[in-house]
Amino acid sequence: MSEANNEPTGRSVLVTGGNRGIGRAIAEAFVANGDRVAVTTRSGGAPEGTLDVRCDITDPAAVEAAFAEIEAAHGPVEVLVANAGITADTLVLRMSEDDWSSVIDTNLTGSFRLAKRAAKGMLRLRRGRIIFISSVVGLLGSAGQVNYAASKAGLVGMARSLARELGSRSITANVVAPGFVETDMTAVLTDDQKATIKTQVPLGRYASPGEVASVVTWLAGDGAAYVTGAVIPVDGGLGMGH
Ligand code: NDP
Repeated sequence: MSEANNEPTGRSVLVTGGNRGIGRAIAEAFVANGDRVAVTTRSGGAPEGTLDVRCDITDPAAVEAAFAEIEAAHGPVEVLVANAGITADTLVLRMSEDDWSSVIDTNLTGSFRLAKRAAKGMLRLRRGRIIFISSVVGLLGSAGQVNYAASKAGLVGMARSLARELGSRSITANVVAPGFVETDMTAVLTDDQKATIKTQVPLGRYASPGEVASVVTWLAGDGAAYVTGAVIPVDGGLGMGH
């Protein structure tokens, strides 16, 4: 791609779940940076300037097909942001096998599938950035979110193991752990729940999706070349480093 026709010339970036919420803000930030950005979702609607790829990350064949499409258009993925995630909240005694396995399969195993496939190209390039979007509740725990918190805590062990496996090839693996962010995922909370949460956040408010995106683009940039295996909270102080 050349600058002459105003096509982006930056890195090949993949953001999963980039049609709304945090993923959309992340994808838009990379586009603004001049990167070649692919966005995968199940339902489409990726932001302008991105390659809109349909992919259910619970389906290994769909993940493989998505990478083939992205590599053909943008080259090997240099920056992976594994952002797609779901919740299925309920108290543990009511939590079904399906509540458990759907959340683990999307949030944890889906991220494994993406990281494994992305690492293949990054190892050849001898560089790469893998960024997992976890959550403050992965380390703090959360009543009613046994499945979700376990999936998000699992990302920490996965990132740190990848950091050790891939570090010698200049590939970093890090975790961003947002607190409460204004998105569809948190729109389901009642006003009372939202008010209670805000009293626990030292900054006294939710984050905007853009405040998570700015940390992700920093982790993917030259300024974070020596950061790997880190868990970076973007939670207004809610977790105090946990
Ligand atoms: P949203 O619910 O707004 O968006 C979720 C995204 O994930 C959508 O783009 C959705 O696209 C995609 N997605 C879900 N399941 C799949 C699947 N099986 N295959 C492919 N894509 C899928 O979430 P948020 O923006 O709020 O959250 C983004 C990430 O940040 C999640 O991992 C979440 O756990 C995490 N997070 C969010 C917080 C918050 O307060 N909002 C706090 C901490 C962490 P589609 O439905 O089209 O497939």
